[in-house]
Amino acid sequence: TPGRTPLMAGNWKMNLDHLQATHLVQKLDWTLRDGRHDFGAVEVAVLPPFTDLRSVQTLIDGDRLELVFGAQDLSKHDAGAYTGEVSGAFLAKLGCTYVLAGHSERREYHQESDDDVNAKVKAAYRHGLTPIFCVGEPLEVRQEGTYVEHVLTQLEAGLADVTAEQAKAIVIAYEPVWAIGTGEVATPQDAQEVCSAIRTKLAELYSGDLADAVRVLYGGSVKAGNVAAIMAQEDVDGALVGGASIDPAEFASICRYRH
Ligand code: PEP
Repeated sequence: TPGRTPLMAGNWKMNLDHLQATHLVQKLDWTLRDGRHDFGAVEVAVLPPFTDLRSVQTLIDGDRLELVFGAQDLSKHDAGAYTGEVSGAFLAKLGCTYVLAGHSERREYHQESDDDVNAKVKAAYRHGLTPIFCVGEPLEVRQEGTYVEHVLTQLEAGLADVTAEQAKAIVIAYEPVWAIGTGEVATPQDAQEVCSAIRTKLAELYSGDLADAVRVLYGGSVKAGNVAAIMAQEDVDGALVGGASIDPAEFASICRYRH
């Protein structure tokens, strides 16, 4: 993956309160620094629950840690009468770099449509956040064999009206739903097939140069023991990690997959 800095992003989901969050971030940072992790060579991001963000920001800024952070969702609206929603403006003010858009758990449990996800991707850009835009097929679609088409349809819909200027900084996460939290990891070849198809589609929608620059992550039961084989694939530029990201030793090993 020449020119593309790998990204390891930890999606904590609804785990760890703000006190546990500071503990995890400190432990992760110590473990990585102890192993002389080169943060410039492999970027490491944590995506805690909203209520943890302020504490994580204080710790990272206060101790000048090289970790970056972001949120797991945002509102498609900027402000107003949307009870319970969180604006991208607030996330930007807290120093978030990234925000997930269209995670399969949001699509499934909160009925987020491709249009909603597109609105969230655009909201992220309005506030200077980098979306980690998630796509991936459910098990039935994998079994029917139409998974590439399914993922590319989600990709194109999510990027509607997103300009090349905006899209050049996007991160795409390919997460087959059947591999999320199931312990069933896609084979490196499965991950490569879809990540490569995503890159080809980006070239079609924008340009070859843009497609070469965009990072495409794989997500779904990534662990220290399987990450190296997945990262060896040409079109896989990192991982979106759920379960294993709330264990600092495990997540640090994932980040140090080259060692
Ligand atoms: C995720 O939720 O993005 C994810 C990949 O979860 P897990 O690693 O637990 O499969």
